[in-house]
Amino acid sequence: MDIRKMDETYIERTYGRFAPLLVSGAGSIAYDEDGTRYIDLGSGIAVNTFGFSDAQLIDAATAQLHTLQHVSNLYHTKPQVELAQLLCERTKMKKVFFSNSGTEANECAIKLARKWGIDRRGADCYHIISLESSFHGRSLGALAATGQPALQSAFGPMLPGFHYAPVGDMAAIEQLADENAVCSIMIELIQGEGGVNVLDVNYVRSLEAFCRERDMLLVIDEVQTGNGRTGALYAFEHYGITPDVVSTAKGLSGGLPMGATLIGERAEGTLCAGTHGSTFGGNPVCAAAALSVQRRIDDALLADVRAKGEYIAAQLQGAKGVKSVSGMGLLVGVELDGKAAIDVLKACEKRGVLLLSAKTKLRIAPALNIPMAELEEAIGILKEELARA
Ligand SMILES: *Cc1c(COP(=O)(O)O)cnc(C)c1O
Repeated sequence: MDIRKMDETYIERTYGRFAPLLVSGAGSIAYDEDGTRYIDLGSGIAVNTFGFSDAQLIDAATAQLHTLQHVSNLYHTKPQVELAQLLCERTKMKKVFFSNSGTEANECAIKLARKWGIDRRGADCYHIISLESSFHGRSLGALAATGQPALQSAFGPMLPGFHYAPVGDMAAIEQLADENAVCSIMIELIQGEGGVNVLDVNYVRSLEAFCRERDMLLVIDEVQTGNGRTGALYAFEHYGITPDVVSTAKGLSGGLPMGATLIGERAEGTLCAGTHGSTFGGNPVCAAAALSVQRRIDDALLADVRAKGEYIAAQLQGAKGVKSVSGMGLLVGVELDGKAAIDVLKACEKRGVLLLSAKTKLRIAPALNIPMAELEEAIGILKEELARA
């Protein structure tokens, strides 16, 4: 049986797979079973921070694998603690809880926000406001926070206490906060899965001020936007805000599964002993890999990410077949003028360029260190396919 047939036979069909059967990669180039070369503008959905087969990632992970691959969280481990210190020092957050995915990082944030509200203002104070067209994950808690009824409706009643406001509508937020005992507002600053929608800076600052005024936590989901993706270490830096909780995952460990919930001063200490946990969370191999990835996200790399993002936007803004371009740094959304994003994506795939979609848009999220020559080649092919009538 070939791999595609086996996939169809044995894997529950929750994904629509693309055609290429990728078998190896180096940097931003992937190869399929026939040796066909692809330039990767998706990086495993913003995960492979430094591309495929990155020497430093391999060294960091394998060195740790050779010494101690796992001990439970009943013991201290050096890579986990060093990573937590680095994350706290660079974000000015106070504490970290490690998990294995974005969903779990948000699940922790939701539990923390609820407990914080209940501890301070009583049993009713568990309500959370999130935004329409948001995406926070697939577990029942994170799915309840996700403002997309289409993803929720097949699974019966959602966890109570979640309320959704239209993006940009402060009055709707105020009304929800008047009607419910709200402990937290939870948002993405750029709605990644929702179509690379960049939230307005004044709106976000109003939300921050409103959280302070009404004694609520501001939870920022940076699962996709964190780890240098937008040209800042975290997107909240672009907004000049101080979040109370930040969740992240995807690019955190450069391709190994890891999530982190960063906890600021107002919320520190809420999740006391016994209130939350994870067997694998902060696993030494993932943590050692993440430490090596995080140490490389420096000012020079971030400037490079911004410059490459500006290059992509300049190339696509006003190009034939393009209606609008959104995003920040190397998280770019392309709204098409007439054509379906999936058709352009598949045409590019046939010509050796891998892309992502987000709702009706194309999404571009390459490795942060994609060489300029490869980026130019891929964007050139994309432009040709966009222009094709
Ligand atoms: C991908 C994503 C998640 C879910 O992360 P998983 O690692 O798939 O669980 C949550 N929030 C945002 C903003 C994401 O982009």
